[in-house]
Amino acid sequence: MHSAAARREQDILALWDRAAGRARRQRDDALLAAAGAAATDSIGAGNAALLSLRTRLFGAPWRLRAACPICHTDCEFMADSAVLADGLAPPTDGAPCRIAIGGRELMLRLPVLSDLAGLAAASDSAAAARLLLARCLGDSSAIPLDQDTLNKIESELERCDPGAVLAFTLDCPDCGHAWQAVIDIAPALWAEVQAAAERSLLEVDALAREYGWSEAEVLALPHVRRAAYLQLAGAS
Ligand SMILES: [Zn+2]
Repeated sequence: MHSAAARREQDILALWDRAAGRARRQRDDALLAAAGAAATDSIGAGNAALLSLRTRLFGAPWRLRAACPICHTDCEFMADSAVLADGLAPPTDGAPCRIAIGGRELMLRLPVLSDLAGLAAASDSAAAARLLLARCLGDSSAIPLDQDTLNKIESELERCDPGAVLAFTLDCPDCGHAWQAVIDIAPALWAEVQAAAERSLLEVDALAREYGWSEAEVLALPHVRRAAYLQLAGAS
C-alpha cells in the first residue's frame, strides 16, 4: 500500500525514464502522453492537460521565472497550475475560425497536437510557426503567405484557441519594465520532473551506500522516515 506521495514519486521516475536524454519533441510527446492528451486535441487542450498533470505531480502552486527583456533580470513569480488549467480549456462557443484575404473569406483549421510532430524538421522556431500557420489554411494553401496574412492567421487562431499560449503580465522589479512573459509549459514541467527525479536518485544513492538497501526499499520508505535516515547518514 503506497501513499499518495510515494505514487507521485513513482510516476515522476517513470516519466523521467521515458523522457530523459530524448530530443525536445519526444520529451514533449512523453509528457503529453502521461497527461492523457490525444493527438487530435487542440494545442490549448494539450496545455490544459499538461497543467493538470503538473498539479497532480507537484501541487497547484507553481514557481516560474522569466528574464526581463530590457535589463535581463531573472524575475521569479508564482502561478497556480490548477486555476490555469481551468482557464485554458478550449472555448465551447464553436465559432468558426476564419480570416479575410483579398476579398475572400477563408476557413482555418485549428491546429492539433499531431501537427506539432511534423514541425521538428523546421530550421528554426520562426520557420516552424510559418509551417504550422500554413497548415491551418488546409485546402487554401495556395494563398501567398506574406507577413500580413501570417499575422491574420495567428491572431485568429489565438482567438479560437486562447489556451495555445500561456502568458503572464510581469513588472520587472529592477527597471520597472512591464511585459508579457510567455511560458512554454512542457519545458517548464520537464525541468520540475528532472529536478525531482534527480533528488530521488540522490536519496536512493545515499541510503544504498550507507545501509545497503535496494532502490525499491528506499523508495518504499515513508518520506518522513527517509528524511530522518538521510539526516543520520549526513546526506541532507
Ligand atoms: Zn528589467
